[in-house]
Amino acid sequence: MKICRFDDNRLGLVEGNVLRDVTAALDVLPSYGYPLPQLDPLIANLDAVVDRIKKLAPAAPVLSLTGRKWLAPVANPGKIVAAPVNYKKHLQEARDDAQIHHNNQVAEIQKIGLFLKATSSLVGASHGVALQHADRRNDHEAELVVVIGKAGRNITRANAHLHIAGYSSGLDMTTRGPEERSLRKSIDTYSVLGPCFVTADDITDPANLSFSLAVNGVVKQQANTRDLILSIGELIEFASSFYSLLPGDLIYTGTPEGVGPVLPGDTIVTDFEGIGRMHVAVTLA
Ligand code: MN
Repeated sequence: MKICRFDDNRLGLVEGNVLRDVTAALDVLPSYGYPLPQLDPLIANLDAVVDRIKKLAPAAPVLSLTGRKWLAPVANPGKIVAAPVNYKKHLQEARDDAQIHHNNQVAEIQKIGLFLKATSSLVGASHGVALQHADRRNDHEAELVVVIGKAGRNITRANAHLHIAGYSSGLDMTTRGPEERSLRKSIDTYSVLGPCFVTADDITDPANLSFSLAVNGVVKQQANTRDLILSIGELIEFASSFYSLLPGDLIYTGTPEGVGPVLPGDTIVTDFEGIGRMHVAVTLA
């Protein structure tokens, strides 16, 4: 099932070229009191939401997919985990280009581990990316995003699939420079998610998804998740050996070769097999 959030906090079901407004399915969510749990309520209650969407869908209003405002399909992730260099050819690219590595350590992911992006950096496709330090190089990074469904710690790679709610795609936008990754990649709007969230049962093989990214119509990144250095299962095992993973947590799985700068006025288009296409405008903050 492809679930999206659009316009003024509407919930949508995408079936081919049809968008159905199933916002009423959110009525199944429990109300939470203070302090709020560190999870995304929709993902934490996904089975109930999906059941209600199925009941509502036949009579749900049908809308056009064009002209919509696309919001981040996971609204309230407790944390955004990201893999630094998780494709071999991107590792080589980063080591070869001083404008990318800035004398920072560019070691294998097994050595440097993962990093966190601020949740305040998360936006949907239609919000666009607003460059904050436009005098510096700001790069696009297209990435498959795993959405955690079931909480866990010390999850083994063999059991990792039991903890996955589904998938989305994203941009891990990056200001190049000498600072820590988490600072340079946590700028407002620098984590884009969309266009929809696809439940795990709808993705036959997440380890074999083709994807691409184009800037102003020119293809810059073209890859397949089969070339990940650490697989999705290994990323979940690695991450959960340090911290609990909770429903709605996002794991940006890393970007392949072909990263490059964007400028205000550019349009980024990502296209992920099984997930869809996302148009993201670049502006000045
Ligand atoms: Mn990245």
